[in-house]
Amino acid sequence: MSELTLATGNRHKLDEFGRLLAPFGITVRAIPPELSLPPEDGDSYAANALIKARAAAGQLRCPVIADDSGIEATALGGRPGVRSARYAGEHATDAQNLAKLIAEVPPGGRLRYVCALAFVDDTVERMFIGECSGQMAAAARGEGGFGYDPVFVPDADRGRTMAELTGSQKDAISHRAAAVTQFARWYLARADGPSR
Ligand code: IMP
Repeated sequence: MSELTLATGNRHKLDEFGRLLAPFGITVRAIPPELSLPPEDGDSYAANALIKARAAAGQLRCPVIADDSGIEATALGGRPGVRSARYAGEHATDAQNLAKLIAEVPPGGRLRYVCALAFVDDTVERMFIGECSGQMAAAARGEGGFGYDPVFVPDADRGRTMAELTGSQKDAISHRAAAVTQFARWYLARADGPSR
């Protein structure tokens, strides 16, 4: 079993990464709460994920993974995108961000979740990107997941929102799962062999 540090303060992400990496024999621990991460002011998911991973790896001197993710609405020209966490304002709650998306995107509007996952240690930096396509629900439904999940109806399911799926059902189709699977395959192959 190997252990990796995840640079996030988001408990939901810690849960999801823990679930997603366990089948690969990788456990995840959170960064210490006192560790300060720089502002996510990059103009792409990848840039923001790297900002977090580099900062944590530099301070902790150990391998770190970090993700940056968001939701993109075709009706909004791809917004909120990298600004998804701050869509309704700098310190907006998930509920405020969700309410703004509901106000601006019509039912049936195309949506996409994107996740960029960065790995950083003292010798290498790698990036893995996962996506999940779907559409806007007519109304918010479900208690699971987090963030925009109550209105995200994934194409890969049969009409339920992400928040109506169990954790393992979400893991089978999510943007985060797609990025984690690519990462875990690379990470385990790297541990097995000489190539980086
Ligand atoms: P960040 O990656 O911590 O910057 O947050 C990205 C934003 O996108 C947050 O507002 C999340 O609520 C939202 N988001 C990212 N992934 C998901 C997901 O799997 N479900 C629901 N919302 C998500």
